[in-house]
Parts: sequence; structure tokens; C-alpha cells
Amino acid sequence: MKAFSFTTDKGQSQIGIEYKGAFYNFSLAWELYKNLKNKGQGPKLDFLQIMVEADFFHLETLQEVMFALQEVRPIDDLKLKDGYVFEPPVGRPQKILCIGRNYQEHAEELNNPVPDEPLFFSKSPSSLTAHDTPIRLPAGIGDVHFEGELAVVISRQGQNIPKSQALDHIAGFSLLNDVTAREMQRRDQQAGRPWFRSKSFDTFCPFGPVLVPKDAIHDFGALELKVSVNGDLRQQGAASRMLFGISELVSYLSRFCTLEPADIIATGTPSGVGPLQAGDRVEVEVAEIGKLCNQVVVS
Ligand code: MG
Repeated sequence: MKAFSFTTDKGQSQIGIEYKGAFYNFSLAWELYKNLKNKGQGPKLDFLQIMVEADFFHLETLQEVMFALQEVRPIDDLKLKDGYVFEPPVGRPQKILCIGRNYQEHAEELNNPVPDEPLFFSKSPSSLTAHDTPIRLPAGIGDVHFEGELAVVISRQGQNIPKSQALDHIAGFSLLNDVTAREMQRRDQQAGRPWFRSKSFDTFCPFGPVLVPKDAIHDFGALELKVSVNGDLRQQGAASRMLFGISELVSYLSRFCTLEPADIIATGTPSGVGPLQAGDRVEVEVAEIGKLCNQVVVS
């Protein structure tokens, strides 16, 4: 089961859900469910981030709402019609924390040493953009690279989270493209400056299209990430090949900054990164999650 945020043709933010192979308006389903079960009491769920922040984003909750409604009425009228537009599943996280060099072959392809503890940096949340929106290359910026990554969304606040409790702080999984102005990054790296600006241009963080509850995925290590450009497979890597696994990353990051609901962790990219040109179409895919597609334009 997958959930997503979308804007209707009337400009309203809503939550969508993939249920038994079809897309439904979960925000409407939730209002009906509240009337049925809770005398109309409960939060208004019009954006997936609200559900994550309320620690309400669980497979059981999503299923219960749809099951309960189906018991008492047909749900065909809740099916989404054409004309909706995807938003990033969570659109205003406090932080986007990214792991660098978390796959040995990727560290080596850029002639970087393999780290002996997680290396992390951040992207500005203003760089977020949705599935099916353009990645805009600033004119004259030099090489800009795609980096497909598995993304983790945090559900509960935590500091110094033990590795054994890390999963309790995860809402679910999505896909992210850590678009990078590579020439700028190299120059900044050589000059001893931070990487932040090369990672943070507007639209340099495609994210989505959906968020999958963590309890819908049985084996995170088996998730296989694939990235293609114009249909050519360019990156491929199983999550089990990460140098530092997901629980370790959550635990490690929480030692340095409090993790907050809806924060995003980009878990690192496998080898095969490369430059993007205007007109390219980049697709980041994990079979259990979906496909994040973005077209490249020069702004
Ligand atoms: Mg990256």
C-alpha cells in the first residue's frame, strides 16, 4: 500500500492512496470514516506530512479506514479522476539529511576515500520538487549530476536513538534524486568550503512520488534501486550494499541533531552517477515503492 500528496484540479492539497491497484482520495475516505466511527472527531488529513507528524501513518490505519468504509458503502466514488498533480509526499521537512559515499563503488568512481563512519551533509528543503516536475539547470553552472537514492522519512522526534530502536522512528520509504552541481561541488571541496550550495538549487531534490509505510516493506535490504536516463539503466544497487545500514544511519544522525517528524534522510547513491543535459528524463525506481520521473530543462 502506498500513499501520496496531490493537488486537485481545484488547487486543494489532498492525500491519495493506492489500494488494491487503484488510486483513491484518502482525505475524503478519512472524513467519511470519522463520521462512521468517531462522530466526526479527529484531525483533518489533507496532506501526507500531517499524517506523518501525527504519527498516524501506519499500514494498519490506512487499511482499517478503507476496509471499514467498504463494509458499509461502495467506494468507487472515491477513486481519483485525471487532473491531479503529485506533490512531494512531505513538502516542508525541517531537514533533508544526505549520506555521502555510502556505497563503496560510488566513493571510488569519484576518487574519494571510503568513509569509516557515516559522512553526512544537507540539502535545503527549498530544493524539493515533486514527481513529474522539471529539474531546472541554472545556465552556465557546469556539469550537474543525478544521484538516485532510497529516502527514509522520520515519524517521531528523537535524539541519541539506539540502533535497536531506530525503526520506531521511521514512517516509511520513498525515492529521491540528490541532484548535484558537480563542478561547483569539486571546486568548493578543493577550497575547503561546504557542499551546501551545489546541492541546494531549487528543483535539485526531486522526491516521491509516494511514501510507503515501513510496515509494508518486509526486508529493507532487499530493496533494489535502479536509475535510468532516457531509458538507459545507469545505476543499480541493493540497499544491502550500503556501507552503513538504515538503522545505523538513523541512530548516528540523531547523535548530532534531533530528528523531527517528516525529516528526510537520503541514504546515499550507488555507482553510475553522471551528467544531465536539457531534455533528459531521469527515472529513479524501486519496484516496491514506484518510479520518480523528472525531465531536465535549462532555466
Ligand atoms: Mg547523494
